Amino acid sequence: MRVYIAGSGAMGCRFGHSLSKTDHEVILLDNWEDHIQAIRENGLKVTGDFDETVKLPIMKPTEAVEVADLIILLTKADQLPKMLQDIKGIIGEQTKVLSLLNGLGHATTMRRYVPDESIMVGVTIWLAGLKGPGHAHLEGPGSIFLQNMSGDGQAVAHIVDMFNQAGLNATYDENVIESIWRKACVNGVMNPTCTIMDCTIGELFGTEGGLNLVQGIFKEFIAVARAEVGNIDEEGIWKYIMETSKKASHHYPSMHQDLIQHGRKTEIDYLNGAVVFKGKRVGISTPYCQMMTDMVHAKEAMLGLR
Ligand code: NAD
Repeated sequence: MRVYIAGSGAMGCRFGHSLSKTDHEVILLDNWEDHIQAIRENGLKVTGDFDETVKLPIMKPTEAVEVADLIILLTKADQLPKMLQDIKGIIGEQTKVLSLLNGLGHATTMRRYVPDESIMVGVTIWLAGLKGPGHAHLEGPGSIFLQNMSGDGQAVAHIVDMFNQAGLNATYDENVIESIWRKACVNGVMNPTCTIMDCTIGELFGTEGGLNLVQGIFKEFIAVARAEVGNIDEEGIWKYIMETSKKASHHYPSMHQDLIQHGRKTEIDYLNGAVVFKGKRVGISTPYCQMMTDMVHAKEAMLGLR
């Protein structure tokens, strides 16, 4: 298969690195000039669980011309519409397009550029970071859950196989929307809170006030998720949040890294902001999510990011 990774930051490089071990043709797409130049000149350097450099083709999205068999979307959420616009030319009749972005609402964006039968959505709990242009730092285990819109798992079994050949631990999930909500819920309770309070996950969960906030946000996510997807495993998701908070207690969530550590715009509009938006449509009030969204927007504005 010809596989493009559309958005080759930390996660795109993680996927590019693993898929480069298979016999599929893998091409990175990105707009970050220094990153493109570093990978073209020196290859993609990978440290952490690995210590190697792999050669991978990389180009700007608008430079890609050969039609794809698979496109894996791994931009940040607000970069997605432009990426889809830029890669329209490589989406053919047989091309599958898979979003593995965090957050909610990406299928709606994809529908503006990709026919329903070609859309796949998923969620991944692999982690990745960038040390600098052309240098990814990869640590820890992970997995991928994915599904196509048509719900016909057989039609995309070869894509699941490809990820597994690459060691990426993929499963076809007949209810991926619940998995997406579960991950969004974890991100929605930890990301804006730790970002605004400038604290680790353990510090947040170790205080009564922090835990109250987490519970307030959680209840809103569950109410809106239930209205959107029906049955949702509230108890299981809460258990997952508490387990994650213990495992990652010393970590700052990715939103903290983006906004506070690197001064980059966040994905809040696709987490708590999306819950506010969806809540309004079904008449569910979401004051905690509204406040988190406003606070993160305000901080972004203070840093000149909006
Ligand atoms: P990223 O910020 O590393 O990359 C996104 C885009 O930003 C890329 O185009 C990248 O080239 C560009 N970029 C990154 N650093 C830059 C810099 N210093 N200067 C200029 N451009 C820069 O994003 P990511 O972490 O790969 O996340 C992609 C998607 O995957 C997001 O939806 C994220 O929430 C999700 N996700 C990330 C992780 C993770 O561990 N990183 C885990 C699960 C899901």
